[in-house]
Amino acid sequence: MVYRAAVMPAANQPLVVESFAAPTLEPGAALLRTLYSEVCGTDVHLHHGKLDVPFPIIPGHVSVGVVEQSMGRLSDIEGRPIKEGDVVTFLDVHETCNNCYYCLVARQPTKCPHRKVYGISYSATDGLLGGWSEAIWMKPGVKMIMLPKELTAETFIGGGCGLVTALHAVDMAEIRLGESVAVLGVGPVGQSVVAFASLSGAGEILAVGAPRQRLVFAQRMGATATLGLDMPSTARVDVARRLTGGRGPDVVIEASGAADAVRDAVDMVRDGGRVIVCGHYTDNGAIEFHPHWQLNRKHIELKGCWGSRYDHFHRAVALTARYGDQKPWREMVNGRFTLEQANAALSAVENRKAIKAAITPNPSLV
Ligand SMILES: [Zn+2]
Ligand SMILES: [Zn+2]
Repeated sequence: MVYRAAVMPAANQPLVVESFAAPTLEPGAALLRTLYSEVCGTDVHLHHGKLDVPFPIIPGHVSVGVVEQSMGRLSDIEGRPIKEGDVVTFLDVHETCNNCYYCLVARQPTKCPHRKVYGISYSATDGLLGGWSEAIWMKPGVKMIMLPKELTAETFIGGGCGLVTALHAVDMAEIRLGESVAVLGVGPVGQSVVAFASLSGAGEILAVGAPRQRLVFAQRMGATATLGLDMPSTARVDVARRLTGGRGPDVVIEASGAADAVRDAVDMVRDGGRVIVCGHYTDNGAIEFHPHWQLNRKHIELKGCWGSRYDHFHRAVALTARYGDQKPWREMVNGRFTLEQANAALSAVENRKAIKAAITPNPSLV
C-alpha cells in the first residue's frame, strides 16, 4: 500500500506530491486516514526557512483522522480503547522524555530537548509523520484523543494549534473574573485568546489588529472593543487606558508576532499587570527596551509562552466540544485544499486570505 503526501523539499521551494510506502506498524502504533490537517502561520515560517527543520518534510502538525489500522490494544489516558474507525486527533508533540532536567526538575516539559513534533521536526525520509498526507503514522506513545460526538472535526481544526497555544497563554495570564484584557493580534491565536478570555469571565476585552474583518470576527469571539493598526501605537495605548479607568488593561497578551507589539504590550498594561508573549514562535526582529520605565518602575510581570503540553491539548478538545456552538471556531477555516493544492493553501495563509486553511488529503472522506 502507498500513500500520497505533500512534501516541502526545502525552504522557498514549491511543495510536491510524493508517494510513500505504508509504515510497518510496531506494537502500540497506528495508522490514521487523514480527514483534516491545518495550515498555520508556522508552516509559512517553515517554508521561509525561519525554523531549523530537517528538509524535506511533510508539514502538518495538528490533524484529525480515522484510525485505519492499529497494532495491539490502544487506549486514551482514561483507559478507553481506541479502535479502528474511531475519529481522533493527537498531540503533535511526543517523546517528551520525563527523564531530564527540564521535565523533572524545572517541570517545563515544553523545553525538553528530546521532544519531537509531527510535521516540523521529522524528515519525510522518516516516513508519514506529517498531516499533509493521506495517512499519518502514529508512533507508539503518541497521545490520541477521540473527538466527542458533539465536536465536529471542522470546529476542532478551526481552532487548531492556535487554540492550544491560546489556552496555554490564558492559563499563564491567570485572568480573574472581571479583569480587563487586551489581545494584540487577531490571527488564529489571538481569536482564541479573545474567546478564552471571555470564557474566563474577563470584563473589558480589547482586540487590536488588522484587517478590519478580523476585528469584526474578534467581536463574535467575545471582544468588547477593537482597535485597528491604522491608529498610531501611542494613540492605541491612550484608548486602552481610557477604556480601563485611565490605568491600562490588567492583562495584555501578545499574539501578533510583530516585534513592536511586545513594546506596545508593555506600554499598554497597567502598573503591576501581566504581559504574556506567545506570538514570537520565530525570530521577527528586536525592539529597544527601557528596563526602568517599561519593567522595573511599572512593576509588571512579563512571561514568554512556548509550545503546549498534553494538558492544554486535552482541555482544548473538551472546550471546543463544550463551546463550539458559542464561539465560531468552525468558521475560521475559510479555505479547503487537496494535497495538490498545498502551495495555494500556504499562499492563502501567507497573504491573509484565510485565517486558517485546511488540507483535506482524502476529500471523499470529509
Ligand atoms: Zn525531557
Ligand atoms: Zn501551528
